Amino acid sequence: MTALILDGKATGEALRAAIAEDVKSLIAAGGPTPSLVAVLVGEDPASQVYVRNKHRACQQAGIAGDVRRLPAETTQEELLKVIGELNADDAVHGILVQLPLPPSIDARAVLDAIDPAKDVDAFSPVNVGLLVQGRPRFLPCTPRGIVELLSNYGLKSAGKHVVVIGRSDIVGKPIAMMMAASDGCCGPDYANATVTIAHSRTQDLARLVGTADIVIAAVGKAKMVQGDWIKPGAVVIDVGINRVGELLVGDVDYEAASLVASAITPVPGGVGPLTIAMLLRNTVTAAAARLRSSV
Ligand code: NDP
Repeated sequence: MTALILDGKATGEALRAAIAEDVKSLIAAGGPTPSLVAVLVGEDPASQVYVRNKHRACQQAGIAGDVRRLPAETTQEELLKVIGELNADDAVHGILVQLPLPPSIDARAVLDAIDPAKDVDAFSPVNVGLLVQGRPRFLPCTPRGIVELLSNYGLKSAGKHVVVIGRSDIVGKPIAMMMAASDGCCGPDYANATVTIAHSRTQDLARLVGTADIVIAAVGKAKMVQGDWIKPGAVVIDVGINRVGELLVGDVDYEAASLVASAITPVPGGVGPLTIAMLLRNTVTAAAARLRSSV
């Protein structure tokens, strides 16, 4: 078997085109131009690239993007003040604090300070709570991107066994929650799974992965998931981004797994492009909520 390659780049482009149309419709309906402010502290090169890409994607979709660049010596108090100003600014609909923050800053306290109505990453306890209760305001970007990708290719999760490897707040926990929910952003066929969450203390991970109809790997260890762990015909979603020399590789041994799986995401070009698209989607949702609250 040779797996179908799930093209996140093409799916992301189609989603971004649809979001650009939604921006036009929102403005035509008298709504505001959606606006997203990214806060970047310090000079981390990878963060600079991520913020630049997000900014460019905003512009292409008709979203007003701004970047607040703060020096690495910024104190927590100063950063909280900036967040407070952005919270109070009615022209700002989405606030994104690029992680990682310098070690001297308590990232949790900063993320908690973002107004939940502007928390387009969906990291705040309020938005996580709403997600867990099945009435999300925003869906976290990477997990939503995964669901959109499955839906785009008609790969239903309802009734299937999904093994999520990793339990981070950003990927593992929310995607597990979304897969296990009774409904979701792409309808009940792309939710309603039986979900197992694996982590660093899971025993016999290879055997567990072998029972999965859908494997979602979000670990951060290059090629950890071996091809012979995968059940023939399973769907493999590789969230991992690992730098090996000059190359970016996922958490799954792509060459080996693609001989066994029925469908697989490449790295790069799989889940990654969808994350930014979903950030734009959440910013438009935040701006549309402002229109509704003003009528
Ligand atoms: P974290 O480091 O926060 O979490 C990693 C998880 O993997 C933890 O739950 C950890 O378990 C688990 N883990 C570590 N080792 C093993 C092991 N040997 N067996 C099973 N589980 C293990 O990572 P993130 O969730 O933030 O990111 C994961 C990967 O996804 C990274 O490569 C990251 O770069 C990438 N990523 C990609 C995005 C995209 O847009 N494509 C977006 C976000 C992340 P424990 O909890 O026990 O420590």
